[in-house]
Amino acid sequence: MEEGGVNVIDLTQADESFIKELKELGAEELKECIQCGKCASTCPMALAGLEFFIKRIIHAANLGLRDILLEDSSVWGCQSCNRCVEVCPMDVVPYEVIQAVRRAAIKVESCPANTYEGLRNLYKFGHAVFPKGFEERRKKVGLPEKPPTALSNEELLKKYREVLRQTILEEIAPFPLD
Ligand code: SF4
Ligand code: SF4
Repeated sequence: MEEGGVNVIDLTQADESFIKELKELGAEELKECIQCGKCASTCPMALAGLEFFIKRIIHAANLGLRDILLEDSSVWGCQSCNRCVEVCPMDVVPYEVIQAVRRAAIKVESCPANTYEGLRNLYKFGHAVFPKGFEERRKKVGLPEKPPTALSNEELLKKYREVLRQTILEEIAPFPLD
C-alpha cells in the first residue's frame, strides 16, 4: 500500500470476519456494490484530487481488507456531504461504509489522535473542537467567557451526555463515559 491511501490490493489479507463486522457497524448494503464509480465521480474529496477515494475504500471493505483499511488515514477525510448516497444506483449508502470503517477503527484505537480528542471534547464539553484558552480570547473581544451552548448550561450538557451514552459511543469510546 502506498502511504495515505488504499492503492494496492493484497488478496492474501482478505478477512471475511471484517466484512461481517462492517455490516454490523452499519455497512448493511456493502455487498451490493458493483464498482460503477458513481460515488467517486461526485465525491468532493475525490474531485479535489485528495487521497480519499471512496470507490476504492468500498472495494477494499468488500474484500475484507481489515489491516489496510484500519491503517488508511484517508477514511477520516470524508466530509459527510452524502452526495455518494444520492447517486449510488445500488443503494449501498457509501457514506455508511465509511462510517462503519471509522467505527471499526475506533474500536481498536486505530484512528488519528485528533479524532479521539474530538470525541472526548464532544462528550465532555458538547463541542468537538475545543481550543484551549478560549475563555481569555472571548473576554478580550468583549464576549462572555463561555458561548451560549451546552458549555454554559450544565443541565443541557448532562442531557446531551445522556443522549450520547445511548449511541454507539458507549461501545466504542476509548475513554470512560461517566
Ligand atoms: S456508486 Fe454505489 S455501486 Fe457504484 S461504486 Fe459507489 S458504492 Fe459501489
Ligand atoms: S459523504 Fe463522504 S464519501 Fe460520500 S461523497 Fe461526501 S465526502 Fe465523499
